[in-house]
Amino acid sequence: MINPEDLQTVRERSRIEDVVGAHVTLRRGGGGSLTGLCPFHEEKTPSFHVTPARGYYHCFGCGEGGDVFDFVQKINNVTFTEAVEYLADKAGVQLRFSDTGGQRTEPGLRLRVLEANKAASDYFSEQLSGPGGLPGRQFLDGRGFDRDAAIRFGVGYAPTGGHDLRDHLRGRGFNDAELVKAGLIREQGWDFFQGRVLWPIRDAGGSVLGFGARKIFEDDRMPAKYLNTPETVVYKKSQVLYGLDLARVNIAKKNQVVIVEGYTDVMACHLSGVDTAVASCGTAFGDEHARLLARLLGTGDVSGGEVIFTFDGDAAGQAAALKVFKGDHHFGSQTYVAVAPDGLDPCDLRTEQGEAAVRDLVARREPLYRFVMRNVIAGYDLDRADGRLAAVRAAAPLVSSIRDNSLVLGYVRELAKLIGMDPDEVRREVKAAHAHRGTRPDRPAVAEEPPAEPVRSELRAPSPTDRRLEAERGTLRLILRTPEAFSQDWNQLQPEDFTDPTYAALFASVLNADDGEGSWPQRVVAANPDPVLEQLVITLVVEPVLREPTVAYAAEYSALLRVQTLARQIGELKSKLQRTDPTADAKAYNALFARLVGLEAQRRELLAVVTGPSL
Ligand SMILES: [Zn+2]
Repeated sequence: MINPEDLQTVRERSRIEDVVGAHVTLRRGGGGSLTGLCPFHEEKTPSFHVTPARGYYHCFGCGEGGDVFDFVQKINNVTFTEAVEYLADKAGVQLRFSDTGGQRTEPGLRLRVLEANKAASDYFSEQLSGPGGLPGRQFLDGRGFDRDAAIRFGVGYAPTGGHDLRDHLRGRGFNDAELVKAGLIREQGWDFFQGRVLWPIRDAGGSVLGFGARKIFEDDRMPAKYLNTPETVVYKKSQVLYGLDLARVNIAKKNQVVIVEGYTDVMACHLSGVDTAVASCGTAFGDEHARLLARLLGTGDVSGGEVIFTFDGDAAGQAAALKVFKGDHHFGSQTYVAVAPDGLDPCDLRTEQGEAAVRDLVARREPLYRFVMRNVIAGYDLDRADGRLAAVRAAAPLVSSIRDNSLVLGYVRELAKLIGMDPDEVRREVKAAHAHRGTRPDRPAVAEEPPAEPVRSELRAPSPTDRRLEAERGTLRLILRTPEAFSQDWNQLQPEDFTDPTYAALFASVLNADDGEGSWPQRVVAANPDPVLEQLVITLVVEPVLREPTVAYAAEYSALLRVQTLARQIGELKSKLQRTDPTADAKAYNALFARLVGLEAQRRELLAVVTGPSL
């Protein structure tokens, strides 16, 4: 899709240390690499490495790794194409697309929209502190936000004139068509936002995607209290979260995210020390937000991350909680609800009771399922047997709707305790509720695609437990998973160091892998597409590694392989020496003997590196 030359230009101009450095503080490590705290898992000592010379990053702690495009995909939760576009925007590269099918936006538009948004954000900020911005400042002041807070969160003010922003941005070289596409002015030329307080909505990397705006004048022509940028090439309301740029690093570090309902709630939380708070913008929290956060939390981990929703204590809040509960499959049992006793939102809580109260609110969270079940059974008289039965019948469908069977038993016990009923009886009701749901299949029946014609391979997968090949397999495993642990020339390893033909073929693929698209293992596979090699790569990438894969560990493995190669060569030489008559062919014999001495010396040297059984 993307022109390969453009892709290469983007790669060259996007220095990985700069791209990663926007998210992680990097310090100089050994072997030309930089180290920092991994943004993808929680850690206290840095095991996240960036190798600028190779253009790779890798975390020895959680195994995340890849090139600059992989990093942007992972950190921003975007597709490969979007990652390239994002970096192209930053690097000022105009991407050319082939085979677009008419789907692709025109080149450069994303960049222009982002630039216009940035200029608009700066303009709105200036307006807030200017003479016309008094109504905006009064609004913020009334909610306990001072000038520093306004600057920290980029809050701005849109003047009431009707064309102020348009005229300002025209003067900055933007044309009306671009401003309409950015959602900053309407088709008829009027400013989209007039007489409102605005919050810039940014992506994790800090680019302004759009704005959320609150009504502050009674005679506002737009009836809605909140107004958001319409859908544009960069602003998709189902995918943006306000505060993500401020919270992202803390979310990854603390393995926790707090979801609040408004822009001022995000501000109040961060100012109170709850620095993992975000809010959805002009739409309910949905599946795409959930996926984005799951990615940031790294919920591949069994323990998962904590997702804490703050809701108003009222009926609307309960309905919202119920909605989250039903779509809970992304977060599982680690979803919590935090409701202030008097139903205050974080912003009001901060102004009325102080910042400690905001921290307490989050600390007092309770599991979402318990919150929902409590609310469902609250309407029943649990002192009466028929009240208890009615309550369990009301709550049973909730429990039976949980997709993760391993959690159901815990929910059943919890419900039994809340109602004061025998767990077996509760389980029967849950079962009955499940049966009542009918036999609707989970997925619609779709005709399966016929399996592709199997590709033949000349290679055979070596046994993973063959002790003679342990060093060869272990070295390849390290090469695939932590290429950074090796020198540029792969610790001087040679194809002949691999005696098994399949391992040798895989190492040849390593040598031939190019800088194209995809992760490092994908590119190794691409260098020699073969079903056996592909399966071997997949197996090696997930096989357990016994020790932390450090540079020293890789050096040991490589040395062990070289020692084995030398041992083979020495054996061959000795056999040759035996067959050579020292008196009849003294010259040849002495030459062979000198080589033998040299190989023995090399072998002794390498043995010093190898620790042997600890491998
Ligand atoms: Zn990590």
